[in-house]
Parts: sequence; structure tokens; C-alpha cells
Amino acid sequence: MHHDVIVLGAGLAGLAAARDLAAAGTDVLVLEARDRVGGRVEQTRAPDGRTVQLGGEVVGHAHTAYLRLAEEVGLELVPSYVAEPGRITRSTPEGLSAGDPPHWFGPGDMAQHERLGKEFGELAATVDPDDPWSHPEATALDRLSVADWLRSCHAPPTVVRLWEMGQLALAGGSYERISLLAALRKSAAVPGTGDYDYDNWEGLRLAEGSATLAEVMGRELGPRIRLGSPVAALDRRPGHCTVRLVTGEVLTAAAVVSALPVGPLRSVTVTGVSDARLASLHRQRQATAAKFAAVYDRPFWRADGLNGLSESEGVLGSTWPQNEGVLSALIPPERYGVLLGTPPHLRTPELLAEMAALFGDRALRPTACHLRLWGTDPWTQGYVTQWPPGEVMAVGPLHGTHEPPFYVCGSDQWVAGYMEGAVRTGRAAAEEALRRG
Ligand SMILES: Cc1cc2nc3c(=O)[nH]c(=O)nc-3n(C[C@H](O)[C@H](O)[C@H](O)COP(=O)(O)OP(=O)(O)OC[C@H]3O[C@@H](n4cnc5c(N)ncnc54)[C@H](O)[C@@H]3O)c2cc1C
Repeated sequence: MHHDVIVLGAGLAGLAAARDLAAAGTDVLVLEARDRVGGRVEQTRAPDGRTVQLGGEVVGHAHTAYLRLAEEVGLELVPSYVAEPGRITRSTPEGLSAGDPPHWFGPGDMAQHERLGKEFGELAATVDPDDPWSHPEATALDRLSVADWLRSCHAPPTVVRLWEMGQLALAGGSYERISLLAALRKSAAVPGTGDYDYDNWEGLRLAEGSATLAEVMGRELGPRIRLGSPVAALDRRPGHCTVRLVTGEVLTAAAVVSALPVGPLRSVTVTGVSDARLASLHRQRQATAAKFAAVYDRPFWRADGLNGLSESEGVLGSTWPQNEGVLSALIPPERYGVLLGTPPHLRTPELLAEMAALFGDRALRPTACHLRLWGTDPWTQGYVTQWPPGEVMAVGPLHGTHEPPFYVCGSDQWVAGYMEGAVRTGRAAAEEALRRG
């Protein structure tokens, strides 16, 4: 079968690209490996109807591409956990605290923390998120880890520990192994306070659940999507691309939009694309993470003045309330191996025991639990992009670029993953393909 455009992958990026292409009258086909749309956004329902998010969940006030698309398809956004009243819980091997300052802080540490947040913000303002390579100090900033930068700015170990905990709570990979330039680039893309402005990155959620956006686009595209169709190979020629499925079936198109995560894309044999573009694409890596969700009959933590938000040095990196009475949790890359090494039948009890240490024994009695191992899911192989020191320069300015008629999109092609990156790059790829006819 021949089509105008074949889109690889029915995550938010592929769906957003295909939707725009179809709206412009293009004959578009989406090939998706799984038996559902949405990729890294996925949700289920508790018996009482509450949605439970198993993947991407919240967006921020500064996520303009996502917010615009949600409005176009008529989905309502509501405040996320960020607006939840109450205190954050922090847990380390030697103690537990609710609210600021954390229990290991001494006099003056909070002021140092705030000073460094301000200095980070000022440095981020010197980086162009679309072209970090043009920064006069790009190589030096990329070589430095965020933790090394903090120490070079005389951050006390207590403050480095808080930043590290916050970063592992986001599951993006330890600040000891994240490029300063990558972190500045991410911050510059969504400016705000400190190294990560929670309101601008995470202040909103779709009332009906984040996977609803994918489901709505999936319904709009209907038979243009082929589920259960993993792609094995792609050959790009001017005006003529060939796509081979793992079944051996061959399809052709005038153009191909790849919306595959960088991990699974490495298993697709790509020919006809320049060595430089492929080397850049194949160099990109992801932070592996798992998500855990525990459903309770009510948000019991509120009675203790807590907001359900936590950062910890256990296997769990963080918890937050995703819906009334439903706690989300992330297991960051540094602890993912520990989770995998835990016998499957012990994983949920041990994660609940960590939650009980944070919020009390009531946490041991959820009505349902869900553990999703995204880092080892064959069609994801990760979570969000990870940029170790030196990696922004190594991936280079070809990051996120197209080689028509081969177009590339997906959250990995934005600064740091996220649903905003998926929608933004998906729509941009469709626009570029349409512009080139
Ligand atoms: C646990 C978790 C929590 C997250 N939390 C948030 C959050 O709160 N806010 C936020 O903004 N972002 C969050 N993210 C990130 C966000 O969900 C993703 O960045 C975004 O959804 C990725 O969209 P995408 O379309 O680029 O990729 P994907 O959603 O990964 O879509 C790619 C698609 O390609 C398919 N595919 C793979 N290989 C093949 C193949 N060979 N052939 C055909 N199809 C293939 C996959 O099945 C998938 O459907 C989270 C992610 C995870 C995993």
C-alpha cells in the first residue's frame, strides 16, 4: 500500500503529527507496535470510576503546545497536586521531616539553597533552549555536572543533597551525572524559580486523565491507525520511502515521520539517512524509571497536614497525589535496578512499606496498586531523556532536525522529554512536512 505519509508510533507526538497531516487532506497512516494508542501516557480506572495514571500525567502553565492542543480537542485542564495545601514529607536514612527546611539543614542552608536557585536561573537565562550549542561557554557548561557546578559555587553538601533529592524525585537521573548545559537548557525552555519551576512544569492536569488526549486523537484518526504493527526497517529515498513491518509486510510513502522513542528506534534498521543524523539520533539516551500508583478510599495524609508530596532516599524517589485519594510514585534510574532485583511478589509490599514510613500505616491498605516498569518496556525503554556531561555537544545541533522526506519528532527531540515535547515536536514535524509538500 502507498500513502502520502507514514507516521511511526502512536504516542502523543505521532498522533499530533498525524492529526495535523490528516486535517490538511494528507493520506496518512500511523503504524503502532502496541495494541493501544498513547505510548507513555496510559490510564486505567478504579472500580469507583477514578482515573489512575500509569505514565505521563501533569503539564505546566508554560506548556503552550500541549495546552493549545487540549483546548482544540475540548479537554478541560484543572490544577494538579502543586495546588494541594499541606507540607511536603522528606525521608532519609537518618530522619523524616514535614515542610521546609528539611531535617538535615542547619542554620544558613536555606539561604544558600535560595542563592543557588537564583544563580542557576540567571545562568539559564543565558542559554537559548533551541540552540544551546551557540552559547560561548557551551562546551565547558556541558562538561560540568550540575552537582559539580553547585560545589564550584560553594554549595554546602546539605544543599547538594536537597537538589539531588529533588532531581531523583523527578526521576531524571542523578545531578552527579547530568550535564549543567542540559539542565540550563531545560530550565530556559520553561523559565521560573530555581532549577525547576513546579507550577510552570507541573501545575495542571487533564480533568479526565492525560491518556484521554491520546484516546481522542486516536478516535479522530480511526482507521488511519494500525495497531499491533511494529516497524522493523525504514529506507529513505527522495520522494519515496519504504517501511517494513516485523511481519515482512512492506508499505511505501512519499514521506515518513518517525515518532519513536530513541531506544526502540535503535532496533529499527534505517537506511538512506545520513550517517551524521543517525549517529546523533542513536546517541541519545533515556533515564529509566518505573511508576507506582496506590489507590486509597480517601486522601488520609491530609489529616496530618501533609500534601502527599514526598522526596525520599529509599527505592521510591517521590510521591504526589494524582487524583483524590490516589498516590503516584516514581522509582528513579539509580534505583531501578534495585526494583528489578526485587522478586516480583515483594515489590508492591516493599514500596507500600516505604509509603507507610512516610505517611503512616494507613498507606499499607490501598484498594488497588499498579506498578509500571517503563524502563524495560520494549516499546519505550526509558522515561524521559537523560543528558550526562558532554552529551549535549555529542548529540549536537542535529538534535530534533529532519532529513526530508524523513521527519523526526517525539518528546526525546525536545529539551528533556515531557508531553509538551511530544506535542510540540509532533506538530512541528507535520508543519514542516506539509510546507515541503
Ligand atoms: C512514568 C512516566 C511518568 C511521566 N510523567 C510525565 C508527566 O507528568 N508530565 C509530562 O509532561 N511527561 C511525563 N512523562 C513523559 C511523557 O509521558 C512522554 O515524554 C511522552 O508521552 C512521550 O510521547 P512520545 O509520543 O514522544 O513517545 P511515546 O509515548 O513513547 O510514543 C512512541 C510510540 O511508538 C511506539 N513504538 C515503539 N517502537 C515501535 C516500533 N518499532 N514500531 C511501531 N511503533 C513503535 C510505542 O509503542 C509508542 O506508542 C512521563 C513518562 C513516564 C514513562
